[in-house]
Amino acid sequence: MSSLDDFSADDGAAVGGVHIKYLVHCPRQLWLYARGYRPEHRSDRVAFGEVVADTTFTRRRDIDLGEAKIDWVTTGAVVHETKSSRAPSPAHAAQVRHYCLLLERRGITVRGGTVHYPLIRRTTDVPWNDDARMAAEDAETQARSVVAATEPPARLARPGCRGCSYLGYSWGD
Ligand code: SF4
Repeated sequence: MSSLDDFSADDGAAVGGVHIKYLVHCPRQLWLYARGYRPEHRSDRVAFGEVVADTTFTRRRDIDLGEAKIDWVTTGAVVHETKSSRAPSPAHAAQVRHYCLLLERRGITVRGGTVHYPLIRRTTDVPWNDDARMAAEDAETQARSVVAATEPPARLARPGCRGCSYLGYSWGD
């Protein structure tokens, strides 16, 4: 297993959607991710999520912004994100808000977002307004702060780590 000394933070890099998702789920996960740490073995959960995303809306095309890859955008613009999770999470909404922010910075008028949960046949809407923009900007600032920290943030309480692909690093599992 690698040690923390093997990684250095790329804190000048742009903040992408995955950074925001990890920030909201667990700042330690973001800190490790920003240092290039990836679990030694690709987690089944990540692989499963990719299969769900790839097979659910096969006619959709990713929008690649460089620092972020958006599942697809419809007229408006409405940002769409597909999750293999069976439960909506604040991290998913935060990720979509970040995509809205990135699009708006490119001069696009954004109407909002939708998170798709095909396994439970559900969608949740993510509003885009002044409050959402402030939340997205605040999350981006927090993400930069976590990435710049010299020490890793504390672990979550163990139940919060369920299903995390970084379990091996944090807990030695
Ligand atoms: S295992 Fe737990 S503490 Fe470690 S990165 Fe994942 S959620 Fe955070």
